[in-house]
Amino acid sequence: VSKEDMKSYGYQVIDAIVEHFDTEHLKKPVAYASRDEMDLLFNAEIPEKESDFQEVFDFVIKKVLPNSNIVSHPKSFSFVPGPSNYVSVMADTLATGFNVFSGGWAASPAAAEVEIVTMNWLLKLFKFPAKTGGGIFTSGGSMANLTALTTARQQRCGDDFSKAIIYMSDQTHSSNIKAIRILGFKKEQVRIIPTDLEFKMAMNKLKNAIAKDRLEGLQPFCIIATAGTTNTGSVDPLNEIAKICKIENLWFHVDGAYGGAAILSKKGKQLLKGIEKADSLTIDPHKWLFQPYEMGCLLVRNHKWLSKTFSEKPEYLRDIEGNTSEINFYDHGVQLTRRFRALKFYMSMKTFGLDAFKSAITYSIDLADNVEDYLRKSMNWEVISPATLAVINFRYNPIGKTFSEKELDALNQKISQNVVDSREALLVTTVLQNQVVLRMCLINPRTTLNDVKETLELCESFTETRL
Ligand code: PLP
Repeated sequence: VSKEDMKSYGYQVIDAIVEHFDTEHLKKPVAYASRDEMDLLFNAEIPEKESDFQEVFDFVIKKVLPNSNIVSHPKSFSFVPGPSNYVSVMADTLATGFNVFSGGWAASPAAAEVEIVTMNWLLKLFKFPAKTGGGIFTSGGSMANLTALTTARQQRCGDDFSKAIIYMSDQTHSSNIKAIRILGFKKEQVRIIPTDLEFKMAMNKLKNAIAKDRLEGLQPFCIIATAGTTNTGSVDPLNEIAKICKIENLWFHVDGAYGGAAILSKKGKQLLKGIEKADSLTIDPHKWLFQPYEMGCLLVRNHKWLSKTFSEKPEYLRDIEGNTSEINFYDHGVQLTRRFRALKFYMSMKTFGLDAFKSAITYSIDLADNVEDYLRKSMNWEVISPATLAVINFRYNPIGKTFSEKELDALNQKISQNVVDSREALLVTTVLQNQVVLRMCLINPRTTLNDVKETLELCESFTETRL
């Protein structure tokens, strides 16, 4: 590719990205296409001969990119939205363009240093020990949880973990169970502790389970608490769990992939009290810290736990191992070859400043509170779980009409289906205490109360035909 062509391709790519940032709110957030439709568009043999870049690019712009949900759309309320920022997109482009190997000190001292510096910022925010603490940027929260639980198993159980027992609540994210399965624990080694009416882990049930396991000669070894459950934003009683971990000598892992970032707001800080006592903490900058995919993060109280768990010394890396006093991130986690994830976090923090992140997070928590007020004042809507860390669950249940629980479930399922089919908003259901409810996750700072009201009106318009 000639220098002129490279520039021309680059300008077109940047123009397309800028246009997307500028107009995404005018598009529909939901993409739906069947496998047959997609096959018809894309299914082809591997091309033997070259094609013109322009043709390939135009095809991607017209056919590939529009057939994806817009996760940063102001009316994208479901799952966990992904409101990224342009500076980080540029940083990711640089990291890819220079193809920086972010595995070890010898290959890129600056990349390692930037990762250390940004990690230190995070350790400080979460009040983890400055001297011994450490961590690693991962592909996402799932990988951070896997890295944490691998470390916990290695540090606490060694090779024999046949009697080790792990505790988590019925609201714990599925990535933890996945990690436990990958690590070779059996189903019988996991205790799913029920939650209370606020969807927090029930402490008496946790204590009973630990005591019973001890009586049976098993080895309680780890509690996974959640700081911001995906369903309701609930925070498990972190201080109480920390105390139990201390008394019982258990590993304390906190999954803050969803809610951890709320430490940057006053209300969040209050709710997250005790998070600083975790042995390991997952946070997920590609959620509420506005980074483009993929960026998760694991923090630990002692960075040596990571190197003791993940170090391997293959012969061909002998020569670059020389500088052992420095951190090689390939010794801190699963990946050897790693992209330079820290750069986007570093550049966006430097460009916008922490205050901008604080304001954006505070805005979303307040917006969810306002949505709760609005719903409570309405004749049609019932709040099922109050606004917590910018998540709220509710259902259509108009005053004066008597529906059975089964009818309400069907009605709310239907509302969600119609909204998604209209492609005007992404609003899907979840299930809380056996009720089908609509769940809104409001972490996008570009979402306004008006966006929410319009979506609720759209929901209501679908109920009229049914009633
Ligand atoms: N933990 C929690 C609480 C989550 O909400 C999520 C994702 O929504 C994850 C873990 C998994 O994170 P990721 O999707 O980045 O792998």
